[in-house]
Amino acid sequence: MRSIGHFIGGKAVNGTSGRFADVYQPMTGDVQAQVALATKAELRAAVENAKAAQPAWAATNPQRRARVLMKFLELVARDNDTMAELLAREHGKTFPDAKGDILRGVEVVEFVLGVPHLMKGEYTEGAGPGIDIYSMRQPLGVVAGITPFNFPAMIPMWQFAPAIAAGNAFILKPSERDPGVPMRLAELMLEAGLPPGILNVVNGDKDAVDAILDDPDISAVGFVGSSAIAQYIYERAAQTGKRAQCFGGAKNHMIVMPDADMDQAVDALVGAGYGAAGERCMAVSVAVPVGKTTGDRLMEKLIPRVENLKIGPSLDPTADFGPLVTKAALERVRNYVDIGVKEGATLAVDGRGFKMQGYENGFYMGGCLFDNVTRDMRIYKEEIFGPVLSVVRAHDFDEALRLPSEHEYGNGVAIFTRDGDSAREFAARVNVGMVGINVPIPVPVAYFSFGGWKRSGFGDLNQYGADSIRFYTKTKTVTARWPSGVKEGADFAMPTS
Ligand code: NAD
Repeated sequence: MRSIGHFIGGKAVNGTSGRFADVYQPMTGDVQAQVALATKAELRAAVENAKAAQPAWAATNPQRRARVLMKFLELVARDNDTMAELLAREHGKTFPDAKGDILRGVEVVEFVLGVPHLMKGEYTEGAGPGIDIYSMRQPLGVVAGITPFNFPAMIPMWQFAPAIAAGNAFILKPSERDPGVPMRLAELMLEAGLPPGILNVVNGDKDAVDAILDDPDISAVGFVGSSAIAQYIYERAAQTGKRAQCFGGAKNHMIVMPDADMDQAVDALVGAGYGAAGERCMAVSVAVPVGKTTGDRLMEKLIPRVENLKIGPSLDPTADFGPLVTKAALERVRNYVDIGVKEGATLAVDGRGFKMQGYENGFYMGGCLFDNVTRDMRIYKEEIFGPVLSVVRAHDFDEALRLPSEHEYGNGVAIFTRDGDSAREFAARVNVGMVGINVPIPVPVAYFSFGGWKRSGFGDLNQYGADSIRFYTKTKTVTARWPSGVKEGADFAMPTS
């Protein structure tokens, strides 16, 4: 069986803790690898390597740092198919979707090739008599990232690309459920010319995470995962004075206005609701048709589409979506469907009993669709993270606006309409971080930035875009006076301009 250790100081090393986690192949249900779970000492070894390598990397001019990332992009393109296959085999998402996972990470690497420009400071000549002021951005030192299972290529790249481009050394703690691709990315960075020690991968569970949070030499932590852990990491990181940005779970609504193109809205709902088996933080999990007839028209078209979704093994190019990531995830999602039935929602499509022929032990379930869901139900309030869509019928625009605005999560939201006025008003007033207008999964492109509100995001700076360079650097401001500007005599009053 494949054994996955850590990547420390530019080398793959075995784990020494004696503790391992199983890595499944969700499409068959087999265990395909074991991943080592790091100890505090192993995390510390990664920090020592990172600390030793970082000053020289920070002193390498930013254009040269960008060139390493440019080479890395070539290598990712070279290995794209093998990496996408590994990703599909470990995560369960389909092969084309796995390619999308890699590509959305690649786009952020492309963005940070502009790091010489992104890191430029500011300059004011003559801020006072003979006084010039300038500011510069400097890397933080050693920083760390903790990532979820659902985008094992994209989210590690969202984190390590800007951090490393800005001159930091990075410690990545990927999800223990699909660590194969993050390890491969670290190997490719080394092959691209990154000095050993600048990107380390420490595999593990809570022990490794706590070791990161307590380590005095780690200056910043980026986290993506569920909200309870995001909050825990945000609070504990703050206790040791670290900068933290922690992104959590979601319940993304899609509003369907009476004037929406219903075919487009239904296409959007099935793709964004069931793609990747609903295991996306930007998946649409709540559809909100506005008005009774809109709701009826929506359900009439949606039900047959959900009934006919094609579930298949991850390497079947014709599958709409594949299995869930683990048996525990499958049971959790099925349990939520049971809860919804008990709570009194109408289960219009029941995918609980789906079995994949020839893959009976895989973690598959069919798409489920609930109608008449209300805001007091657990299936509305909690994140299910599976192929389950809830329809909450709203009477009017104001009620539709209130639903996502008052929900505890605030990651993404979409409105489908032909009316520019309502779309504009919705985008301005909704209390959610990322908004789509006739776009169901509004993940911003790499030169904007990604971040949810409320319990979907803790911390003030977003992921990627210019915010990521701000997060991974600190600003130093220099006020310089030359002798020609100096007045004679000591001045005891507070200097003013
Ligand atoms: P998770 O919270 O279970 O795990 C995320 C990371 O935290 C993993 O690396 C894991 O090893 C670690 N971890 C797990 N339990 C821990 C504990 N008790 N203490 C410390 N660390 C712990 O999340 P997941 O199941 O891997 O991913 C799915 C979740 O991530 C969903 O809630 C989804 O919405 C969210 N997500 C959010 C975004 C976003 O940008 N907002 C993006 C992707 C996924």
